[in-house]
Amino acid sequence: MTTNPQATYPRLAMYIAGRWITAADRTHRVVNPATGETLGELPLANAGDLDAALQCAERGFRTWRATPVAERARVLQDAARLLRARVEQIATIATLEEGKTLAETRIETMACAALFDFYAEEAKRTYGRVLVRPAGTRSLVVHEPVGPVAAFAPWNFPVHNPGRKLGAPIAAGCSVILKPAEETPASAMAVVQALIDAGCPADVVQLVFGVPDEVSRHLLASPVIRKVSFTGSTAVGKHLLRLAADTVKRTTMELGGHAPVIVFDDCDLERTVETLAVGKARNAGQVCVSPTRFYVQDAIHDRFVAAFASRFGNTRIGNGLDGQTQMGPLANPRRVEAMGEIVADARRQGARIAGGGDGVDGPGNYWQPTILADVPITARVMNDEPFGPVAAIARFGSLDEAVEQANRLPFGLAAFAFTENARRANLIGDAIEAGMIGINTTGLAAADAPFGGVKQSGHGAEDGPEGLMACMVTKTIHQV
Ligand code: NAD
Repeated sequence: MTTNPQATYPRLAMYIAGRWITAADRTHRVVNPATGETLGELPLANAGDLDAALQCAERGFRTWRATPVAERARVLQDAARLLRARVEQIATIATLEEGKTLAETRIETMACAALFDFYAEEAKRTYGRVLVRPAGTRSLVVHEPVGPVAAFAPWNFPVHNPGRKLGAPIAAGCSVILKPAEETPASAMAVVQALIDAGCPADVVQLVFGVPDEVSRHLLASPVIRKVSFTGSTAVGKHLLRLAADTVKRTTMELGGHAPVIVFDDCDLERTVETLAVGKARNAGQVCVSPTRFYVQDAIHDRFVAAFASRFGNTRIGNGLDGQTQMGPLANPRRVEAMGEIVADARRQGARIAGGGDGVDGPGNYWQPTILADVPITARVMNDEPFGPVAAIARFGSLDEAVEQANRLPFGLAAFAFTENARRANLIGDAIEAGMIGINTTGLAAADAPFGGVKQSGHGAEDGPEGLMACMVTKTIHQV
């Protein structure tokens, strides 16, 4: 780490038509969530900027789709190498603007590089089909890139989210207009810079910031955009789906979750507590697959609550740049306010505070690691995604009861179960309505595995071959 990490923070800019644009009529102040200090002023796009980005994306798609896949793969592989070489600088920037620990931002930078490498290879295997037809005739099914993509990435994984929005479309032969969250612009700039330095043509990637609703309305109204990819809250996802309907654009929606955690009485208690405490602390719980609603079987309920409250409750919070810190601040003051409301509501409804439960004095958006026990089903925390360092615990008796609770909500992103019993693990894997299930683990993201949800958690997947196919359309050619 340099003696002055803030010195690594770049001048903020959009990237449109091959130029970094640092000046605009309107700007957004970017703040370090650990200290409240201003990091920079972010230029915001106007309608002219967005039109310029659309024109580039249209041009870029025409040339990029015709570019050999080997060249597209080379760009992604060189960008992955650059991300790895720049990991310390990028991780510092991401921690400054998002707050999570350096250990976490290093991991997500490496995960972004791994994703680029995966898609560089996967794009070469975009095989079609030859259908059985009478001699001398053919029917072919081919995959083609869908077209220019408008992609909206949130702030919670400032490096990996933009990487997810760029890797698969670029591999597939699409151009992309990326609008990352205005809270974490410099991390996205670093990902785009790696692609440019790797030789990605200027028209293929545009990076814009703005007033989110203005940008999405403008881009989604344009017939140039053929696909919308969004990660964020279910409410915003529904709004974008409605906008996309007018021009019938394809959509990938990675929306809110509310992950149930089923802790069976046969689990390895010590390992379960450790895994869940680390998983819950990750990015201070601001993760769409964060373990959230804990259902613990009667026989071990009290022991689990005591052990988890002691382990998670003692997570060291602080500035993410400090090597001793285990959990950073929340990304913005909105989240601190939300935690206050959620905890007050649970308390009012009879929940017991088994650890934490409050903010922290001084600058920065800190919230204590909070454990709520005996939480009634009606409490807000059991129904609305907390998106913060709050674990809500309730008890259950039978497997069926646990499944009923887990499937009760309209969300279905991630779910977790902890058990040493293979039959129980299988039954849970089959019965839970979720896009991803972790048995004895909270790690769900991998470059080669689809990441996405069911029900109101969204549709379509990122990562894995499925993420590439989501950037392609099929064409059937019958030839007699
Ligand atoms: P929010 O709903 O205001 O914004 C969520 C994200 O959507 C942000 O990145 C924002 O820039 C973007 N956004 C908002 N309105 C938009 C629009 N009209 N068009 C395009 N993009 C738009 O919430 P927030 O306060 O930033 O975050 C809190 C909530 O968002 C959480 O409760 C959580 O459910 C959700 N969230 C989910 C994820 C995820 O990984 N699924 C990530 C971040 C936030």
